[in-house]
Amino acid sequence: MTTRAIHWFRNDLRLADNPALSAAAQAGALLPVFIFDPRSSLHPGAASKVWLHHALAALDESLGGHLCRRMGRAEDVLPALAQTHQVAFVAWNESCDPAQHSRDVALAQSLRTRGIKVTTAPPALLWHPQAVVKQDGTPYRVFTPFYHKGCLSAPAPRRPLPAPDCHFAPPARSDPLPLIPAKAGWATNLMTHWSVGEKAAHRRLSDFVTQALVRYAEGRDYPALPLVSRLSAHLHFGEVSPQQAWYAAGTQGAGARKFRAELAWREFSHSLLWHYPDLPHAPLNRRFKDFPWQSETPHLRAWQRGQTGIPIIDAGMRELWQTGYMHNRVRMIVGSFLVKNLLVHWRRGAEWFFDTLVDADLANNSAGWQWIAGCGADAAPYFRIFNPVTQAQKFDPHGVYIRSFVPEIAALPTAHLFAPWSAPPLVAAEAGIQLGKSYPFPIVDLQQSRQRALHAFAQVRSPAETPG
Ligand code: FAD
Repeated sequence: MTTRAIHWFRNDLRLADNPALSAAAQAGALLPVFIFDPRSSLHPGAASKVWLHHALAALDESLGGHLCRRMGRAEDVLPALAQTHQVAFVAWNESCDPAQHSRDVALAQSLRTRGIKVTTAPPALLWHPQAVVKQDGTPYRVFTPFYHKGCLSAPAPRRPLPAPDCHFAPPARSDPLPLIPAKAGWATNLMTHWSVGEKAAHRRLSDFVTQALVRYAEGRDYPALPLVSRLSAHLHFGEVSPQQAWYAAGTQGAGARKFRAELAWREFSHSLLWHYPDLPHAPLNRRFKDFPWQSETPHLRAWQRGQTGIPIIDAGMRELWQTGYMHNRVRMIVGSFLVKNLLVHWRRGAEWFFDTLVDADLANNSAGWQWIAGCGADAAPYFRIFNPVTQAQKFDPHGVYIRSFVPEIAALPTAHLFAPWSAPPLVAAEAGIQLGKSYPFPIVDLQQSRQRALHAFAQVRSPAETPG
């Protein structure tokens, strides 16, 4: 009988450039497996589950219907499958999530004691976090030296691999996975904005490289322009690998260099999570341990629903709810508003993003929120509080982004669109707007809340920080 080999798919839902899949396909007749554990603390948020549902369907199609989907704990499912299907070889790509990594080390050990050969490949990063450390062996906490001294002076990322030839073992039974929520309308709407799966990811990458990359460096901050890649969910689920994106971008021009640097921010976040497993829960800067965040506030709900009365914030939060995505510039603006103007704990923001983003990623999300709150590595200084009105004027100068997500104020002249409360009553009336009825008054005064934040944050500032 030929050897049977399991490839355990996790966040590597692709055939090409999948080192562990190639190893399993070479080792024997392939049994491709995906395991979903609804009780695990590692399981994805609501929007990610919807994406995952479609990603698994696309993967199954690429595998000719051979994907075995199981519910349960990997520690139970994998040994049982291996025994029932007489599997001699199991492979997977490692995770950078410390909790998952330690579970996997124990699982590999337990499979080996059953006489099963286990092969793992490095995580989906360009450089392993252990390989990019300072000379004294400690992790970088500042992005620029991490990228320039660490990543760019290390050996170049490996070249992408072709998809392997797969010969399949007899199929195994699958379980239905509970990924689509009971309120399926939201999930259906979400997915009208995306094409999911490996083929779709490559189409998006290729469209981005041919149509937008050349303008990416100067255009990536404008949410109304189609100049970012929107690859984040594809990268998170491994429908495209960072190596494929890195080499597709190449080195020619400012756009390619900037895009590679953004991929390196992903590396930086994952490196932080690897070296500081507490990243999702605890501030990297311990001075923030006792920061007086507001605990219960009705403002959080207004922020989540896009009903703050501040158009760029509401546009971003509604984009998130409707599409499962928010442009990076707007993520920074809405994040700063929540943690600084509203003084709400960054973890509340991170939780909402984690549940509603299709690209929700423990490393990128936690690092992004800590950066915004000023308590992370290489964080925004405490006195940098984004002004949502001037940010909108600068990065959505014609109001195209705001008008597409906040239609109730679309008729306002652009000069008043960014701060409707400052529109003369006659102008507002002509645009059909009655503040407090058709659109909310701002939930906070931007100037006063800025002063309150400066005062609160000044208590925990590091001695090196001074407003400049
Ligand atoms: P592009 O500009 O095309 O960048 C290409 C890729 O580089 C992205 O797909 C992403 O993988 C990576 N990248 C770009 N910017 C960053 C960054 N600042 N940090 C880490 N990686 C980056 N990104 C996520 O993938 N998942 C998250 O859960 C997430 N949460 C965030 C929360 C906050 C508060 C902030 C400020 C940022 C967050 N980001 C997150 C980072 C960034 O906003 C998104 O990666 C980016 O907007 C995705 O759009 P894109 O693919 O078009 O990006």
